[in-house]
Amino acid sequence: MYLSYTHLYMNEVPCRKCTYTNDIACNIFINQPFKMKLHCNVEVNNRLSSTNVIRRKSQRSILVIGKQTIKNAELYIFWQTLQNKQGTKYKIDNNIDKIFAKFINEGKATIRIIEPPHDLIIQSDTIQLKSFIHILKLVITKKIDPSVLVISNLNPKCMSSVLKVKVVINKPSEYPTLEGFPRTTEELHLVGLQRKSFDRQILKLQSLRILNLSNNQISSLPKELGTLHHLQELILSENRLDKTSKWVWLDQIAIRSSLKLLDISNNSLKKLPEQVGKLDGLVNLKANQNMLLHLPQSIGKLPNLKYLDVSKNNLHCMPGSMRNLRLVSLDVSDNEFQSVDLVSTCKIDIPSLTEWAARSFLKKRCSYDASIIPFTLVKYLDNAKYCVCGNPCFQCYIRIFVDFHLTLIANNIKSSGSTIIPFDCYFCSIKCVCHSKVQY
Ligand SMILES: [Zn+2]
Repeated sequence: MYLSYTHLYMNEVPCRKCTYTNDIACNIFINQPFKMKLHCNVEVNNRLSSTNVIRRKSQRSILVIGKQTIKNAELYIFWQTLQNKQGTKYKIDNNIDKIFAKFINEGKATIRIIEPPHDLIIQSDTIQLKSFIHILKLVITKKIDPSVLVISNLNPKCMSSVLKVKVVINKPSEYPTLEGFPRTTEELHLVGLQRKSFDRQILKLQSLRILNLSNNQISSLPKELGTLHHLQELILSENRLDKTSKWVWLDQIAIRSSLKLLDISNNSLKKLPEQVGKLDGLVNLKANQNMLLHLPQSIGKLPNLKYLDVSKNNLHCMPGSMRNLRLVSLDVSDNEFQSVDLVSTCKIDIPSLTEWAARSFLKKRCSYDASIIPFTLVKYLDNAKYCVCGNPCFQCYIRIFVDFHLTLIANNIKSSGSTIIPFDCYFCSIKCVCHSKVQY
């Protein structure tokens, strides 16, 4: 009976038992008795208390569908958290008002219980959640034989596995090549493993917040990395990122607002990609110990950037767009800032229609990528220079190198020599040049 049920599942959604990313692992569990368990975050909303706004905070939880005792055939949803190890049980039969699953592809669903009047607001791995909701619907419509559901009187020990959201691997021998990583992993550290390629198993971890791949030999990252919409910290220091590395993952919309820390220090980069400027949520950028000759102008439009480390590079100047930043900390030590041999250019003309259109498009700060506009336009927009007034410009601009005091853009500065260094400034008009001269 278990087998046939499993096959039903294998045909519809990935195995409901498999909590690992590697599908091979499914086979390990396939003949074991069935127990529907979901590791998730649950927020319980008491509908009667809505006027008092008593909404409990989302908690790490386990939800299980099962029977309370061996004799009693009645099926329940058990909700268990670290604080409530004994769990709360909700009767299923004639007691589920509605299941809201509109956002199930984002790993969100809500189960509306009639008595008590609770809404269980669930956030979880998408595949696991789909599986759980599917089983629940089968139970509600009585399309499942309750006897296949193993007694799930929750054991408080279960909760220890709930907390296992952090995975640290420091030795190649410990690498889970066969079983992959637990789908619930939120923090993954794969450090010093001499890995040459990015493990695509990581892309299945929809709850991943922190990914540390430092001290490996990775030179390229897959496009899909940018679709991990919870990823907040990405540490790629001491790898082999260089001019051949591809940065298409930065073009993905999900990563733009989620990523807070990007550490690409200690690689072999000569330049940073313009797409870095698309990371609207970025707070901390570590690009020290590379071979950077200059920084992209787009860095000046990172609205949340507070910490920037570009020490130990070959920088001759800083991008003028950075004058709009107000950083907490800036490290520019061990670079080669110099004012000599830097020629100003003036290309003020009537802008082309393309430039006019691109300027007004960028001013609206719309998101764009190759899925909505042609790739050539994406490249064109990515190459925008930014005037001190915030206006983007493309072919029409005045470019001047201005010596500029770093204290105007950062509170704490680390510098090897003078804190007055040349900035590579672009201006959209003569008016902006004059205004800038008055100001500085
Ligand atoms: Zn301007």
